[in-house]
Amino acid sequence: MFFKGCPLRCKWCQNPETHSPKRQMFFSPGVCIRCDACVTICKQGAITLRNGKIETDFSKCINCGRCADVCMSNARKICGEEYSIDRVLDVILRDKIFYHCSGSGVTLSGGEVTLFADFATDLFLYDIKHIDDEKHRAFTGQGIETINDNLLKLRRKDKKVIIRIPLIPGFNDDIQTVKKIGRLALKNSIKKCMY
Ligand code: SF4
Ligand code: SF4
Repeated sequence: MFFKGCPLRCKWCQNPETHSPKRQMFFSPGVCIRCDACVTICKQGAITLRNGKIETDFSKCINCGRCADVCMSNARKICGEEYSIDRVLDVILRDKIFYHCSGSGVTLSGGEVTLFADFATDLFLYDIKHIDDEKHRAFTGQGIETINDNLLKLRRKDKKVIIRIPLIPGFNDDIQTVKKIGRLALKNSIKKCMY
């Protein structure tokens, strides 16, 4: 399951659509065929056809999804839906037979899953991107204090954690940084790190 919402703004982020925890309309102008259907359907007046180009005023958009419903080229899509835990479980359990036969489980990813504490999980693959607060802040928009605190909280609750280091060339791929992250893992009695 892919969760939407993340407090970090990593410079290498591959999923910027997960930054906001809210449902959002996305527009890909490259695949728009300028059929005009979205202009007519949008009651907010957020979409205009000007000089042969479709333009969207996101400050007017209320993310209702009506334009995405009529867009034949998929240039408009709604990203994100609100799900209750019961509804999530309902979806997950449709594949119960596969979990049973393979002995595997469900991966919760994102975004930042720990923002959604109600979704209990057995194993956390916990990203540590850097050990230096200043460098972490410069490259992700946030310091390391909360990340370290949350790691401690998980371990205090005896949750299973594997540290995951997304190796970014020139940012955290030097031996000293990796060693320091390894020491943090040991300090929290975590025996496994992934790269
Ligand atoms: S409905 Fe889709 S394809 Fe048609 S103008 Fe709007 S964005 Fe472009
Ligand atoms: S999502 Fe709704 S408000 Fe936003 S542009 Fe599309 S039709 Fe208009």
